[in-house]
Amino acid sequence: MGDVDLDTLQRWLRTFAASVAEQRDALTALDAAIGDADHGANMHRGMTAVVEGLDATPASDPAALFKQAGMTLVKSVGGASGPLYGTLFLRMAPATGGAATLDPETFAKALRAGLEGVVARGKAEPGDKTMVDALTPALDALDAALASGRSPAEALRAASAAADEGRDATTPMVARKGRASYLGERSAGHQDPGATSAALLVAAAATAVAE
Ligand code: ADP
Ligand code: MG
Ligand code: MG
Repeated sequence: MGDVDLDTLQRWLRTFAASVAEQRDALTALDAAIGDADHGANMHRGMTAVVEGLDATPASDPAALFKQAGMTLVKSVGGASGPLYGTLFLRMAPATGGAATLDPETFAKALRAGLEGVVARGKAEPGDKTMVDALTPALDALDAALASGRSPAEALRAASAAADEGRDATTPMVARKGRASYLGERSAGHQDPGATSAALLVAAAATAVAE
């Protein structure tokens, strides 16, 4: 108990895919307000392909799982979110060091490497009204909870709560990256779609680890 094994990581991706399917229309509605109304469809297409890939070719270790998921997202999603979520998973792969099972700190380090990849690729900073605004506080909360001796399940619950707060905090922000930035000040007053899906990603990790 305590480590994050391959089954748990697969469950994470499948749980995220299920949440995206359930929230597809809601994600698209958010994107209709400040983007081009395809975030739900983009994420649903991508995560459906990821799950199909897992069913067809089960990954042999966490690094292979993340690489497979990342490549699938980059290939199957046309929008900004595909390459960004793809990069997140692709950067997580080497950060596992090839381990068969991840201790919580390694899982947190891998997520951090993924976020750094998203930032390197998209150049968004906290406050720019993007997925980075949900992921950054989530990973800070995860690190803090693990450092204070919380279990992985507790730490991911704290991360999920922080991601939700970060998502909510995007509403008043003026977008400075992505399509929403074309609206300038008019982007304020709307929750960011990518921060919303990113909060689902963190919530799915909390669910998968708690099971
Ligand atoms: P597109 O904007 O190409 O239609 P999506 O609608 O699927 O792609 O995704 C939009 C989301 O992607 C935004 O809500 C935002 O969170 C995220 N996003 C866009 N550009 C960036 C960026 N440069 N860095 C981080 N996240 C970004
Ligand atoms: Mg869009
Ligand atoms: Mg689009």
